Amino acid sequence: MAKDPDKLLSEVGEKLKFFSLLGVEFVTQESSVLSLEETILNCQKCPLSQTRTHAVPGEGDLNADLMFVGEGPGRDEDLQGRPFVGRAGQLLTKIIRAMTFQREEVYITNIVKCRPPGNRNPQGNEIASCKDYLLAQIELINPKVIVSLGKVAADFFIRSSLGMTALRGDFYDFDNIKVMPTFHPSYLIRNEGNKNLKKMVWEDMKKVMAFLGKK
Ligand code: URA
Repeated sequence: MAKDPDKLLSEVGEKLKFFSLLGVEFVTQESSVLSLEETILNCQKCPLSQTRTHAVPGEGDLNADLMFVGEGPGRDEDLQGRPFVGRAGQLLTKIIRAMTFQREEVYITNIVKCRPPGNRNPQGNEIASCKDYLLAQIELINPKVIVSLGKVAADFFIRSSLGMTALRGDFYDFDNIKVMPTFHPSYLIRNEGNKNLKKMVWEDMKKVMAFLGKK
């Protein structure tokens, strides 16, 4: 005979309480992230899957307060299956360290998880196909702040026709999570002569640090 649904629900509730008291909640979150990563690694939802070497789900602390979201993997990331490991990644790592975090303490991912050929911007259909992966990562990791890197990432979180110069430097709300848009590290590298850009990124990161109680 089928069980009384109310009784079943209360049993499940009790079990969840029990697991959470044991600290098992973390394991279920970890296993959810791992299974999400597995899904991303095998994803065939858009044409980028046909040209990639590796999908790049993201990496870092699954309980991070701080998440960085870039645009999409470049050549080095596609070859290694890890986010932000090329030149822009080295600069991002420096920025993270300057914020007094270790790279392993934050979570780093991208809007699209597969490399757009020739590093072009991801297209609308590609972003739409990948959207749920990022939303699930945000839901599971539940960061306090997301730093969006560059215009493609800013557009995902913020409804605005403003360019990066006008957008950056202010917090925006995304599902009760603070989003700080700032310039993409590749843009800083491409405009190395313009020291003002680096200064602006540092001002933005100082706001993030202050929000997270970092000095
Ligand atoms: N640029 C991005 O936007 N993401 C990466 O992972 C690397 C470079």
